Amino acid sequence: METKIIDGRQIAAAVLDDVCVDLDKLSKVGVQPGLAVVLVGHDPASQAYVGSKERTCKKLGMHSRKEELAADTTQEELLALIEELNQDPRIHGILVQSPPPPHIDEAAVVRAIDPAKDVDGFHPVNVAKLALEDPSAFVPCTPLGCQKLLSASGIDTEGAHVVIVGRSLIVGKSLGLLLMAKAPQANATVTIAHSRTKDLAVVTRQADILVAAIGRPNFITADHVREGAVVIDVGINRVDDSSAKRGYRLVGDVDYEAVAPKCQAITPVPGGVGPMTIAMLMANTVKACQQMQG
Ligand code: NAP
Repeated sequence: METKIIDGRQIAAAVLDDVCVDLDKLSKVGVQPGLAVVLVGHDPASQAYVGSKERTCKKLGMHSRKEELAADTTQEELLALIEELNQDPRIHGILVQSPPPPHIDEAAVVRAIDPAKDVDGFHPVNVAKLALEDPSAFVPCTPLGCQKLLSASGIDTEGAHVVIVGRSLIVGKSLGLLLMAKAPQANATVTIAHSRTKDLAVVTRQADILVAAIGRPNFITADHVREGAVVIDVGINRVDDSSAKRGYRLVGDVDYEAVAPKCQAITPVPGGVGPMTIAMLMANTVKACQQMQG
């Protein structure tokens, strides 16, 4: 069987083309969507994520505001900035880069964001809207990107058994809600597995579509995968590699070399789910802006 390699860069570029069409329409009525990205502290990986979000915004012609705050910023100072952004008419989307320093109560910060500007989809209002299948919900960007990868690759989720390993809100749980919805590109039978799941490989081998969102390099082996399954690898893990310029390379949660030959289709790391996350963030920001226009 020839394995289809799902090209996340190409699909993300197509999503951004659609975003540009919407931006054109908004600009004709004098509206420019704006995204504010807030970073507390100087974690290099977070700085890189925030930088690429800002660059993508600017490239598309969206308004972008980057707030880099010192690591010792207090909870009150951060909440005051969120309130200012909630009130700023040029800003339609607000994102606080995770994880903040340990003295910050992240859940309280998320709850302080106006749900109408919560383009990350972590506010309880948006989590509830996702569960209630309300189309105005902001769905977290990575799960939204996974769904888009499947639909753009012609992989039908209707009636399919999707097994997701990982139950975080940012990925596994939200993707489960999204794919079990009574809606197009969904209607799947969803199983969510986690660290307490017994006989994991027995569960994952039942998957028509297997999603790995674990955070452990090469955790999913050929033994976990049924012949002919589709595999979506959400994992992004740094592993030491002295031959790489940076001293490390990125690998997924799936042992790609061993698993790919068994699959109908698979996402690579990098170049699979990763590029989709930023593309869906841009799409969510445009959606926020459109919803605010009424
Ligand atoms: P997380 O919050 O740490 O969640 C990991 C999940 O994996 C948990 O539900 C955990 O189970 C489960 N797990 C851990 N060990 C397991 C085991 N031995 N067997 C079965 N399940 C196990 O991580 P996350 O934020 O969801 O991220 C997961 C991965 O996706 C990471 O590599 C992250 O970097 C990547 N990621 C990528 C993107 C992207 O843009 N591509 C975005 C977000 C995250 P318990 O709940 O029982 O602990």
